[in-house]
Amino acid sequence: MKFVRFIMKNAALASAASVKHVEHFSKFSPSPLSMKQFLDFGTINACEKTSFVFLRQELPVRLSNIMKEINLLPDKLLTTPSVQRLHSWYIQSLLEILEFLDKNPDDHRTLGEFVDALVTIRNRHNDVVPTMAQGIIEYKEAFSYDPVTNLNIQYFLDRFYMSRISIRMLINQHTLVFDGATNPVHPNTIGCIDPLCEVTEVVKDAFHSAKMLCDQYYLSSPDLLVQEMNINMRNQPISITYVPSHLYHMLFELFKNAMRATIEYHEGKNNLPPIQVMVSLGGEDMTIKVSDRGGGVPFRKTEKLFSYMFSTAPTPQIYEDIRNAPLAGFGYGLPISRLYAKYFQGNLQLYSMEGFGTDAVIHLKALSTDSIERLPVFNKTALKNYKVTQEADDWCIPSREPIDLTSFKMAK
Ligand code: ATP
Ligand code: MG
Repeated sequence: MKFVRFIMKNAALASAASVKHVEHFSKFSPSPLSMKQFLDFGTINACEKTSFVFLRQELPVRLSNIMKEINLLPDKLLTTPSVQRLHSWYIQSLLEILEFLDKNPDDHRTLGEFVDALVTIRNRHNDVVPTMAQGIIEYKEAFSYDPVTNLNIQYFLDRFYMSRISIRMLINQHTLVFDGATNPVHPNTIGCIDPLCEVTEVVKDAFHSAKMLCDQYYLSSPDLLVQEMNINMRNQPISITYVPSHLYHMLFELFKNAMRATIEYHEGKNNLPPIQVMVSLGGEDMTIKVSDRGGGVPFRKTEKLFSYMFSTAPTPQIYEDIRNAPLAGFGYGLPISRLYAKYFQGNLQLYSMEGFGTDAVIHLKALSTDSIERLPVFNKTALKNYKVTQEADDWCIPSREPIDLTSFKMAK
């Protein structure tokens, strides 16, 4: 009991200490880096000291900006055990980085300790997405939520997960570039960036992983047909400077969805229509279109598919063994994939034809100079988004009831 009280007292002290730091660092805007800057940091300018000095300021700025927004969540969500746990991770990580503020960058020991601290922080935050998802489920089960709360949570989660993607990117680059080892499988990568990422190779990898899951779950799977169109260098495989793991993540999610739709729509039939992928590289965009013939979704529902509060699949268990994970889980596949695409100024869109199938399109920047981080910043505009209240719609809501003509005589 004494021990529990001791822990609680320490947590309260840490929380109080963090408040003034969050206030201070959230006054700074995060500094978005371009893909080119990430590469320079990892090659010609590879200086661990410079990276350390940048990160010990930038990480607290990014953490504090998003912590300000966590504090604006509806109380009932903020006080769920899951969100409380997650909040305490953010506080602890912020305080751990701040310990390096007055350390000497010329001291080798400091640089080594910093890498260790980053690894600890990265591990601590591994389960942020399922933990937050759990918080949302607890909230949804306990309280009915209105469209405005739904909108606020959607706005928050897009920014929260984007901030997390960006923080992990900074941590991964620093730890991978300065651990002194090269990646044995991909020796040309710089941290987690591949300057010549062959897009079709990633398409095939992601397809095969999804296919394995699909075969295991449904005992069959559709085939893949890939085509490329490279306007710059015909007959050359398309490659861009990108983070292969991000691209893989998006494609894997799209393939899982396309396979599930294809199989469920063609249930009982012998032949499954293949999933077709078109990869095209222009002067400005690199686009990947994943087309299935899984029956599509009604147009009215397409925006809902990107909602964190919506999935047609039953709420999943937390799977200990990832191989037993089903093809559909929390309903986060599309929204998180869209964030990965947007992170470097791209996008992900769904065009569906109900009764036929769906095209999912990933747009990315072809040039590394155009791939610049897209980061949330906490300011008055962001604050306004949390203060949105439910107001009357300024468009008429069509009535489903038959019109009673006698009512026309009544005044408005
Ligand atoms: P998760 O991806 O987290 O495991 P999920 O597949 O339900 O779960 P999303 O990938 O975000 O979540 O997709 C949301 C919903 O959109 C799906 O449940 C499905 O109903 C619909 N959907 C997505 N892609 C397609 C598609 N290609 N064809 C038909 N419906 C689709
Ligand atoms: Mg999915």
